[in-house]
Amino acid sequence: MKIIVHRERCQGHARCWALAPDIFDLDDEGFVVSGNIDVNPQDEDRAWRAAKSCPERALTVEK
Ligand code: SF4
Repeated sequence: MKIIVHRERCQGHARCWALAPDIFDLDDEGFVVSGNIDVNPQDEDRAWRAAKSCPERALTVEK
């Protein structure tokens, strides 16, 4: 599974990071770091929930 990061939509709520700090990186200002994320199979549930928690829909899940 892959998470597509739409960095331009991120508003820095950090909800993704709060749920999965090992999967999502934030920059010094609290915005998600650009670049798509490859998710390990054992982390998919957590990553999915974290992506769905983004109120800006900045994180898209791709199977
Ligand atoms: S939850 Fe969404 S808006 Fe908040 S830091 Fe993560 S990607 Fe950005």
